[in-house]
Amino acid sequence: MSDIPHYRMYIDGAWRDAADTIEVRSPATGELVATVAYGGVTTVDDAVAAAKAADEAGVWRNTSAQQRADVLDAIADNLAARTDELTALQVAENGATVRAAGAFLIGYAIAHLRYFAGLARTYAFQSSGPLMEAPTLAAGMIVRDPVGVCAGMIPWNFPLLLAVWKLGPALAAGNTVVLKPDDQTPLTLLELARAADEVGLPAGVLNVVTGAGPTVGARLAEHPDVRKVAFTGSTEVGKSVMRAAADTVKKVTLELGGKGASIVLDDADLDLAVDGSLFAFLLMSGQACESGTRLLVHESIHDEFVRRMVARAETLVMGDPMSLASDLGPLVSAKQKARVEKYIALGQEEGCKLAYQGTVPTDPALAQGHWVPPTILTGATNDMRIAREEIFGPVLVVLTYGDDDEAVAIANDSEYGLSAGVWSADRERALGIARRLQSGTVWVNDWHMINAMYPFGGVKQSGLGRELGPDALDEYTEPKFIHVDMTDDRRKHVYPVVISAAAQG
Ligand code: NAD
Repeated sequence: MSDIPHYRMYIDGAWRDAADTIEVRSPATGELVATVAYGGVTTVDDAVAAAKAADEAGVWRNTSAQQRADVLDAIADNLAARTDELTALQVAENGATVRAAGAFLIGYAIAHLRYFAGLARTYAFQSSGPLMEAPTLAAGMIVRDPVGVCAGMIPWNFPLLLAVWKLGPALAAGNTVVLKPDDQTPLTLLELARAADEVGLPAGVLNVVTGAGPTVGARLAEHPDVRKVAFTGSTEVGKSVMRAAADTVKKVTLELGGKGASIVLDDADLDLAVDGSLFAFLLMSGQACESGTRLLVHESIHDEFVRRMVARAETLVMGDPMSLASDLGPLVSAKQKARVEKYIALGQEEGCKLAYQGTVPTDPALAQGHWVPPTILTGATNDMRIAREEIFGPVLVVLTYGDDDEAVAIANDSEYGLSAGVWSADRERALGIARRLQSGTVWVNDWHMINAMYPFGGVKQSGLGRELGPDALDEYTEPKFIHVDMTDDRRKHVYPVVISAAAQG
């Protein structure tokens, strides 16, 4: 018997196989990591039916927020006890380096699950408003009800973390959930389902369906019994999800692409800004939506800045992602590699200079990996495709500007608005610029610092709605206004507008 693990889907509290199977292979070595059941439209329908039945039975909706918080904490404890195993699995399925996987992809996932447990304990699921005096005395209450069945479509770059961003608030609010991982990276998400199963989450409350985006994902987006869809991925697919959701007027949140503008002011601490700029575009080898991929450097410091950045980039090691010595790992797939290489060529055709290109591993064991070296293109202008389109790889495009107003204008001249940053020794000046940037997040002298307590999401075509922070729970609840009449005989006060006093008797 093969010792390659086989993963099944999780539907209605049980593990379900499928006639079709897909292989998950390491993006670094090409080795077979696991086989996975491959669902289709009928599997989605079964999962949604299970989630709807659990919702209607009230097995989760009718629990207290405290009980739900305890279960979320128990899931987090279960994952935390398996941190090393999950980190290795994450490295194997999407090529994250073990350092990034431990700190961000798995570490943040567990921490953010705990944040949502805490939020469930403090969130105002019920609140009373001011007494209403006009036209007569009445009391008002706001109850935030769960939405019902929520679907989440998860990409391959941060599978467990981005699943937690959907599952955490959905469960905290009392919803039932169907999650669909990307078919290249379903393993950590199925381990999340295992954790939920082991801690006793009632059957049907969480379901995980694997399968192709255009079938399984599209069915979830259009399914009439799904009341909310949360999607993370490309802007193009996000738009199709929104269109499909329109037919049954679902709530929709979208976390889409970005082209993060990072502005280095002429007074910036250059060493900090150099390292920060590399960190900004190279986490996950650039496969992060909030990456800083458009670097705007003041023209007076540009040459020195690029010289120092290239010198630092030369020290970075691309290699086996399981090695603690590796700074950079592979891209997720051959398709993604081809896409990024096409953009590097395009940048040069458009007139950029290849200021730096690193090297890829030569170890024969890594010969099947999807390696693209870190690449810095200078001399870009903001009308070039290389400066406007999301690349999603280790590619930095460098532009120059003359003054703060021009920097802001270039940064905002984008159809995206997910992340931005300002590097300066003068915090007040940087803050003034931060306020003018059209972006869901702006970092000052930092990057990638996503905090569970604060909203995360994009403006313009980077997305809709927010994940994280209390805003996340707002997205997974429906506010219901309850009006309670407080007068002795309301009929005297308002009803005569329609029913005359004589008719009332
Ligand atoms: P994608 O948008 O196709 O995939 C994201 C998720 O959507 C996956 O789970 C996929 O299975 C699912 N999906 C695909 N088609 C669907 C459909 N018709 N209906 C519903 N769900 C569907 O992204 P990709 O092809 O893997 O990557 C292409 C580009 O997208 C990348 O180069 C990058 O620019 C961008 N991307 C962004 C993010 C992000 O975090 N914002 C993540 C992944 C990819």
